[in-house]
Amino acid sequence: MCSCPECLQYITTQVSRSVSSVTWLVCMATTLMGCVAGCCLIPFCLDSFKSTIHKCPRCNTTITTVKKL
Ligand SMILES: [Zn+2]
Repeated sequence: MCSCPECLQYITTQVSRSVSSVTWLVCMATTLMGCVAGCCLIPFCLDSFKSTIHKCPRCNTTITTVKKL
């Protein structure tokens, strides 16, 4: 539970994950290291390389974005 800065209600944030620029960086780094195609898609499967977006379910405001790495 936390309070939304927009509607000032106590809400449980809606959590969604998105592919961040970090994911693309890891993807390119993997490709540059000589991995074959397919191998560079691994970062997209790993949650640790994605950012987590916390949204308010009431007003749909993005409260915080947690970036990994
Ligand atoms: Zn809200």
